[in-house]
Amino acid sequence: MNANAATAASAGSLPDYLAPVFAQYPLEVVSGEGVYLNTRDGRRVLDLYGGHAVAALGYGHPGFTAALARQARELNFQSNAVPLAVRTRAAQRLIRFAGLDFNSVFFVNSGAEANENALKMAFTANAGRTEVVALEQAFHGRTAAAGALTWGSAGKWYGFPRAPFDVTFIPRREVAALARITERTAAVIVEPVQGVGGAFEMGASYLAALRRRCQETGAVLIFDEVQIGMGRCGEPFAAKLYGVQPDMLTTAKALGNGFPCAALLMSPRIAKAVKLDALGTTFGGGPMACAVIEAVIEALESEQLLANVRRQTAYIRERCRVGPVQGFQGEGFLHGLIMDRPAKLVHAELLRRDILTGTSGDPAVIRLLPPYTLQESHVEQLRAALLDIGSQP
Ligand code: PLP
Repeated sequence: MNANAATAASAGSLPDYLAPVFAQYPLEVVSGEGVYLNTRDGRRVLDLYGGHAVAALGYGHPGFTAALARQARELNFQSNAVPLAVRTRAAQRLIRFAGLDFNSVFFVNSGAEANENALKMAFTANAGRTEVVALEQAFHGRTAAAGALTWGSAGKWYGFPRAPFDVTFIPRREVAALARITERTAAVIVEPVQGVGGAFEMGASYLAALRRRCQETGAVLIFDEVQIGMGRCGEPFAAKLYGVQPDMLTTAKALGNGFPCAALLMSPRIAKAVKLDALGTTFGGGPMACAVIEAVIEALESEQLLANVRRQTAYIRERCRVGPVQGFQGEGFLHGLIMDRPAKLVHAELLRRDILTGTSGDPAVIRLLPPYTLQESHVEQLRAALLDIGSQP
């Protein structure tokens, strides 16, 4: 029985009516607590996947829960036409948290929407140019522009008759291929650590070379930090970790810990090109999203969660090269475990042992995207399960 069927069963005899576009994990979650999920059939599952990199604070975090409840009581919504102190505070807090050369924030609702707006700003700043360069294996979302820049979408799910601009894909970490960025290129978009592509880090020297090439050609450099951003790499953003300043940065997922929100951060060069009515949104920058963003950053800072991400990353590397694990890639809590067999087999074995992980576009890599509150005891639970699975005979 898949989980859709399980939901239908638990909700009565009606079908669930949900479009069947997502393959379903064989577990039905009814609640969460810390880094654990409780299932309808009474299991307690260690969540090392965090709902696709979203639940950075885990489940039932008191500060997050209180901020959302308080804001819902005080003012659940007003549009961007109305100035709100909570929106200004969230923007100020996010810029300060990033600690990079950004001076303008545009709040939206999802990662794809943030990327869509970043591309719009790139074409505004680079009027007349017609091309965007992306990397092989990239994932940037499912809207028209973001989907056009997602590796492999054309054959699989793109769904539109044509891309809105010329797209060139270049191989990952290949400095020689940067010559394909030219004066035609309006923007280059890159995940500094690819998520769906398999927790694959681009590294400081490649990103510095990319930055230089964009400078030479005038192309706008966009870091898509929808998955790696907001502390997941152990620094506020991967741009900080690698010491490379993009012209724009997009972030989402952990930003709202499950409340839908996203942000586009712009450097002074791009911010200058923003005109009245150039960008827009109904829900983006709503008071509940902004209260949540403040609460998430407050928790990351006051609970020193980035230091914990760094500490537990080192602990995972020290303790988990056992059983089917051959090696590691990625950064922080976008961590790739390289397997000695197809990752999906290990994923299923781990789930049988009550540990939820993720697979990725790389068939050999298990992706770990746990809450930042993970402790040594949870890493030990993973190690024990990996040992139990064992290496391939
Ligand atoms: N960019 C990256 C790097 C992502 O991992 C994702 C989602 O997985 C997106 C963009 C799209 O984000 P959303 O699903 O919020 O539109």
